[in-house]
Parts: sequence; structure tokens; C-alpha cells
Amino acid sequence: MSKHPAQDIQNLQYFGEFGGVNPSISDSSTYTFMTAKSMRDTFEGNASGCYLYSRQGSPSNQYLSSALAKMENTESATVFASGIAAITCTILQVCKQGDHIVASRTIYGGTYAFLKNVLPKFGIYTTFVDFTNCSMVNSAITENTKMLYCESISNPLLEVVNFRSVSNLSRTNDVKFVVDNTFSPLMLQPAIHGADIVIHSLTKFINGSSDTLGGVVCASTEFIEGLKDVNTGLAMLLGQTLDSYRAASILKNLRTLPIRMQKHSENAQYLAEKFQDLGYKVVYPGLKNHPQHKLLSTMLSSGIGYGGIMTIDFGSLQNANAIMEMMQHQNLGYLAVSLGFYKTLFSASGTSTSSEISEEERKNMQLSDGLVRFSMGLDHDIKTTFQKMKQVVEMAEHDTGVKADS
Ligand code: PLP
Repeated sequence: MSKHPAQDIQNLQYFGEFGGVNPSISDSSTYTFMTAKSMRDTFEGNASGCYLYSRQGSPSNQYLSSALAKMENTESATVFASGIAAITCTILQVCKQGDHIVASRTIYGGTYAFLKNVLPKFGIYTTFVDFTNCSMVNSAITENTKMLYCESISNPLLEVVNFRSVSNLSRTNDVKFVVDNTFSPLMLQPAIHGADIVIHSLTKFINGSSDTLGGVVCASTEFIEGLKDVNTGLAMLLGQTLDSYRAASILKNLRTLPIRMQKHSENAQYLAEKFQDLGYKVVYPGLKNHPQHKLLSTMLSSGIGYGGIMTIDFGSLQNANAIMEMMQHQNLGYLAVSLGFYKTLFSASGTSTSSEISEEERKNMQLSDGLVRFSMGLDHDIKTTFQKMKQVVEMAEHDTGVKADS
């Protein structure tokens, strides 16, 4: 088993070709071979350590992939041009026409839209269930099921999955257990609790500077080699390859992920407690009244905290919008989707990142219109931030005439 994942990142020692403290960036789309035979062997998958063509792999992408495999404690990994590329390629690599997927009902809207609207065109159907309820997951499994798919901490309801229980179901039924761990890098290592495939959108916390898209799939060597296979691998054949320059910059940002995650968590914990004390409906996995707080505490890596994402239900979309606009005006953060930035980002999930989910389904899962998702920034003085946010919320409630607290 790995040591602490933050330690694994810290221990990485990649040098540039002239002794640089950062690895050199590979600036080539294609690679020479010393002999025609070694080129043929590489094509046939019989040569290791050779690069063929950057759509299949490049040294820069390989450095980042290896670092992320270490972080997730998997044998191997491969990076993609976006999180959704990593997700869609994984699903299509595992499933074929006639197969079935059991997915969590609370997942990123883009993933939900792909499962619900696109995959049926290829004869692949998905049943969406509450993954915090293992007997519901079990009941949804059919003889055609090939995959159990969820997010470690779900978007945007922040439900936490019991990896061990779902993994037991996946083993019993011989299906792949896939976890999108985007919300909880370093906090959680799903593979050590039995997940077969761990995915991240690198666009969020891992890169942390909101300047690029990226994704990764961390899994067994067999699965990753399959994704890169020249004849059947979807990483290779759908061409959603991360550019080497971006891979190099994400690797540099990865080194500060431990301290960034600690600060995101510290700030979110403080605000969640303060707003809860004021009587607002706050959801944050670090709050003792979060339904899976205890479960999550047993799975967490030490010292990283409970993550940077929290939600507050401001009662109505009108209130939520007024509050978000005023917060942006007061420079408390940006009214923007995405997460993991140095600045706080906020959006009303129902009308943004989860708008792909129908109104009725959102109602069923209690995703209300007034729910605002916060990706807490790295604010140096969170006490002052809280005081300013409190004033904004009170002002907005005064203006709209609707009191948002529970
Ligand atoms: N997974 C989660 C949990 C996300 O929130 C997102 C995007 O918001 C994605 C995957 C997709 O990632 P990307 O935007 O990098 O394609």
C-alpha cells in the first residue's frame, strides 16, 4: 500500500535531459526508430519504452500519468484532453452494444447527459440509483450490467459512497467499479478501497489554475494498455489526447496540490460551520451532521480535510442569483462553473452544471433551485470573507424579501 498520497507526489524526482529540475517538455508529434524492426514491434505492442506517435503517448504525458497513478495507488494511468474525454473513453472501452450500466443519480451533468442521451444510440442503457444505498445498487444490477459508476463525493449533493460495499458488489457480479474522484484528490484513494478504475477531471483541483482542461484514467496496466492499443484503444482512436505543454504545466501544479487542498478544506470547513450556526441549510462532508461524515472520516487520508466544496440552499433561485451577483460584485469570488481555483467559484447547480438533469428528477433528488455550490478559494483571511459574505446574504434577503435560512 502507498504511504500518504501527498508524500508520493513529494517524492517524485523527474529531471530534465540537461539536469533541469523539471522534466523537459516533449515537443514532437512523432518519434524516430533506430531500426524498421523496432518500429514494427512497437506497432504490434511487442516493444516497451518506445514512443510511436504522440496521440498514443508522449514523454510529458507519461510523466504526468505516472505521477497520477502513484497518487491514486494504481498500476498505471493515462491522461486525456479533458475529464469528460477520460470518462467517455473509459465507458466505451468497457461497454458494448447490449450492455448495461448502473450509475449514481447524482453525478456531473455532462456525464449524466452522455449516459442518458448518447449511449442509448449505441444500445447501452443506464439505470440511475442512489449510490449511498447499496441494496438499491444491487437490485439495479442485471445480467447485462458491465459497470458500476459513481463519483466519490457526488456533484452537487456531496453524497459520499461506501467504496468497500460497492466494490464487494462489483466483485460478486464481475463488473467494473468506476469512480470519478474529481472532488476529492488526495483526500480519497478509491482504488485502495476496491475501485477498479479511478478518473479525474484535471481541470479542477489537480491543476488548480483554471487555465486548461485535462483528464486522467488510473487503472491496471492491462486496462491502460487497452485504452492505448492502436487497433482497439479508445484513447488512441478517439484522439482526445492532452497536449504535452499542458501536461508539463499540470505536473508542475500537482506539486502544490497537498497545501492547496488543505487550505481549500480549512476555508470550506470554517464557512460551512459559520453558515450552519446562522441557521442556513449547509451541506459539507466535514460537518458532523452530514449523513456520511463518519463513513468519510474512516476513508480519508490524514491531514487534508474534507475538501473544498460545500453547498448552501438559499431557498429560491431569485435569492441565489441575487446573492451570487452581489458576492461577485464585492469580489468574494466569481459566478462561474468549475472548481478548484484560488478564487471562490459559485453557481446555482440546478440551472448550470446539473441543468441536464430534468426538473422532475432534480426534485426527486432534492436538488433545489436555490442550491448554490461553492468551490472555496484559498482566501488568506477566511474570517473577513465570512463577515462580508454574511452581509451580502443579509442584503440580498432584504432586497428579495425572502429569508433563506432553514
Ligand atoms: N467530473 C466532474 C465531477 C466534473 O465536475 C466535471 C466538470 O465539471 C467533469 C467530470 C468533466 O470534466 P472536464 O470539464 O474536464 O471535461
